Amino acid sequence: MGLWLDSIVPVAANWISHAHSDHSRGGHGRILASPETIRFLRLREDEQILAGSVIEPMECDAPVSLPSGAVITAKPAAHITGARQLLVEFGGERLLYTGDIKLQKPLLGAETEIVPCDHLIIESTFGLPVYRFLTCEQAAERIVRFARECLSEGSIPVFLGYPLGRGQEIVYTLCRAGIPTAVHGAIARLIPAHEESGYQFCGWEPYDAANMPGKAHVVTPGFRNTLEASGKPVRIAYVSGWAAVDNARARSGAEELIPYSDHAGFQELLDIVDGSGARRVDVVHGYTETFARILRERRNIDARAAMVGVHVEDD
Ligand SMILES: [Zn+2]
Repeated sequence: MGLWLDSIVPVAANWISHAHSDHSRGGHGRILASPETIRFLRLREDEQILAGSVIEPMECDAPVSLPSGAVITAKPAAHITGARQLLVEFGGERLLYTGDIKLQKPLLGAETEIVPCDHLIIESTFGLPVYRFLTCEQAAERIVRFARECLSEGSIPVFLGYPLGRGQEIVYTLCRAGIPTAVHGAIARLIPAHEESGYQFCGWEPYDAANMPGKAHVVTPGFRNTLEASGKPVRIAYVSGWAAVDNARARSGAEELIPYSDHAGFQELLDIVDGSGARRVDVVHGYTETFARILRERRNIDARAAMVGVHVEDD
């Protein structure tokens, strides 16, 4: 039996690095993941991810031996709450799979641990030099400032955020600043699972179309048109790594662009690679060919673009 990493097709045993849907699909014989990721997967509405699978929660830094003799260990990854890297030790070699990751401190979730390894599998969603992101402190300051500016002039600040991760980070930031906040249902339904991880969300309320003035709104990107069609004086902010590029305003329809991501910017990716000391790197997701070429040329590393859903161990 082999162990797969974030396989999107059913396999005998699969490590799920975090609960975003492009990394977590169902139908596996065994699922290994952090307890927080398992909690989020149980709440997924689109499919019963965990149905019929043997579920094996893995705490950080608690090694698990596989039948082949390989030892796997979960390591913290900054991305969304519950995200983890996976270290695989086998035959004297250390392989690290980052999953989705950033190096800067996140607003919610763990901070990344740099893990020394021989062979690194890293994502490159933003693997071009143009991608540089705000720190979480800078992003929080921009979010709060925009909300207060809008509310003081009688308009309604609307923040676009994805249902798992970014949405809760924005709500958390506004709540901590004491700003009245209304939250779209797709984002609100995952707030209690974050509270179970120790984060407090005070003073928010469910979105109510009949009662919008005087509150910041946090909604999914697809809900922007509905709010703009409401006739209310809304002003839109887009909090995303994609907000770092010149055409983001046109693409998002937002007037305020806040380039903050749950993925690493280009320099952060280089810093993770450098910190790992890896001499072989496989690059998955995003600008794989370009980032692998940069690693070969600038770091003299054996780097290549790879497919997602990686098989790391056989017995
Ligand atoms: Zn992700």
